[in-house]
Amino acid sequence: MNILELTNVHKKLGKIEIIRGINLSIGEGEIFGFLGPNGAGKTTTIKMIVGLIQPDSGCINIAGKNTVKEGNEARSEIGAVVENPEMYNYLSGMANLKLIAEIRKIPMKNVHEVVEIVNLTERIGDKVGKYSLGMKQRLGLACALLSKPKLLILDEPTNGLDPSGIIDFRKIVKNAVKEMNTSVFISSHILSEVQQLCDTVAFINYGEIKAIESITKQSINNETETVSINI
Ligand code: ATP
Repeated sequence: MNILELTNVHKKLGKIEIIRGINLSIGEGEIFGFLGPNGAGKTTTIKMIVGLIQPDSGCINIAGKNTVKEGNEARSEIGAVVENPEMYNYLSGMANLKLIAEIRKIPMKNVHEVVEIVNLTERIGDKVGKYSLGMKQRLGLACALLSKPKLLILDEPTNGLDPSGIIDFRKIVKNAVKEMNTSVFISSHILSEVQQLCDTVAFINYGEIKAIESITKQSINNETETVSINI
């Protein structure tokens, strides 16, 4: 079964049609890159997937559930990381995670699992105010993984990270997929930042998908390479 399916999705904001008939699907355990320049429609698409706005027409299914008809249930399968995750800087990383777990009624054992997955064990007792941007992003990822979601959504997660932060983030996302068998939808405007992470990459511009490429991984250690164009 596909974890995410968009069928002929359209969306107008004001008078302009921002999203113009998007079709895509993501299978179990697949890492799907959503690439496009600024203003292409990536965030608008993500907002529709997570239910912040509704499509004007077309259909979005998450793990077989329609986001319009079964909104809350469909969205319960999603873990999402926004560009700058909101955390309490004066609390430790662990206290932030425990608070979120308590509010969302998630077992505490999940907290310890996700801390290991995002490689924050040594610093999880430190106040979040002392974290680097990369560590904050990893803590955001830990929050998103707490509920062991079927679909992880990452909106431009590498923005502002230095090259080593980007490499660390890629490794951690791969680890999360391996440990939790989650599928990932990751947006970016820089192909080279996500190419080595993804199984498939879709290119969006002016609200339309212009191409979808499968990425052939020749060597996991060298994190290489592409390419076969399907559309
Ligand atoms: P970025 O990488 O800059 O975030 P994006 O690909 O995520 O870009 P969107 O934020 O989805 O793009 O925006 C797509 C288009 O929709 C842009 O031209 C933007 O100006 C326009 N847009 C976004 N929100 C609104 C709104 N509320 N009303 C009208 N137009 C909007």
